[in-house]
Amino acid sequence: MATQNPVFIPGPTNMPDRIRRAMDVQTVDHRASDFADQFVPLLDDLKRVFKTTVGEVLLFPSTGTGGWEAAVTNTLSPGDEVLAARYGMFSQRWIKLCRDQGLYVHAVESEWGDGVPADEYERILKADTQHRIKAVLACHNETATGVTSDIASVRRALDNAQHPAMLFVDGVSSIASMDFRMDDWGVDIAVTGSQKGFMLGAGLAILAISPKAIAACANARCPRAYFDLQAMREANRKGSFPYTPPLGLIRGLRESVTMLEEEGLTRVFARHHRIAEGVRRAVAAWSLPLVARRPELYSDTVTAVRVPEGFDATELVNHAYEHYGVSYGIGLGDIAGKAFRIGHLGDMTDVMALAGIATIEMAMANLDYPIELGRGVAAAQAYYSATRNRWKQRVA
Ligand SMILES: *Cc1c(COP(=O)(O)O)cnc(C)c1O
Repeated sequence: MATQNPVFIPGPTNMPDRIRRAMDVQTVDHRASDFADQFVPLLDDLKRVFKTTVGEVLLFPSTGTGGWEAAVTNTLSPGDEVLAARYGMFSQRWIKLCRDQGLYVHAVESEWGDGVPADEYERILKADTQHRIKAVLACHNETATGVTSDIASVRRALDNAQHPAMLFVDGVSSIASMDFRMDDWGVDIAVTGSQKGFMLGAGLAILAISPKAIAACANARCPRAYFDLQAMREANRKGSFPYTPPLGLIRGLRESVTMLEEEGLTRVFARHHRIAEGVRRAVAAWSLPLVARRPELYSDTVTAVRVPEGFDATELVNHAYEHYGVSYGIGLGDIAGKAFRIGHLGDMTDVMALAGIATIEMAMANLDYPIELGRGVAAAQAYYSATRNRWKQRVA
């Protein structure tokens, strides 16, 4: 085959040719001065993506999960209490990681399809008059359910309770695709990875860290070795790594940040919103419910769709792959078999989204879903054509 179809999984995402070319590099000496010349400005430029001026950005050769581990182990001690909520696969995994590190987790149970329970957080934080809770965790965009949570509301919960806990946010499937405001929201550690909004392969954990979180490292006793943040900070500040840096990925990230800034973050976010809205119109035309419970929770990077009773969403996803060579996300955890996910983040256009909508629609028709072929595509076409703007202005 001459080429391959785009993927509609919510990460890893499609890689633009510019980024793939940028990653194709011969070995260079990472201790040579020109490595630092390129690397130090990259860390500074990344601050704009996190919208932080007070924080610092660091990279670990790892994935998002390694970024969480770095966040937790560098700032907390065994026995410390943290506040988290379970409303999908990723928020659930973060809770497990904390427990595996010997932390005590207050885990608020929420429905899958709901967002972060900020009111419940506030109640718990107000009751914690001894300030035993050292960190509050929130998943900005729960990729398993297609739910975006309001991180500002978590900040308000902390402020209303006048609670000094740190705020850690999983932004793996939101940062660089949706508005993220580290400083405005008072986030102490924001974690993301290279393979979602940044349009690269997996392999880098990208963290932004506030001065308060950096200060917390001094007394934190969770064991860490590879993920030692202080060692990484000291090395990164000099433009180096405590071990061998993955040069190809770093070059790719450089290109990614350049592309994001050429398009402009505001336009990147608007593009994601518009594409997502077209996908949601298609789902509405199929009369299928979203996993996300309320419009204000709808994610602009991934849409999780419930299949009708008696249908197996995993079979649908397999069918689309086997017959059309197009990948979608399966339902995870509690909604395995009951929902599929359309990832629409990163290097994505409305034209690509139309192909993704059309293909899953064909797969549903093949499997006798109660849908009419073309209805979803028509709804998305109507929306995309009504909201079109000149291509050159979009990419300028
Ligand atoms: C993908 C994802 C992760 C996991 O990241 P890895 O890079 O696979 O370790 C964590 N959180 C969210 C919200 C994600 O979407």
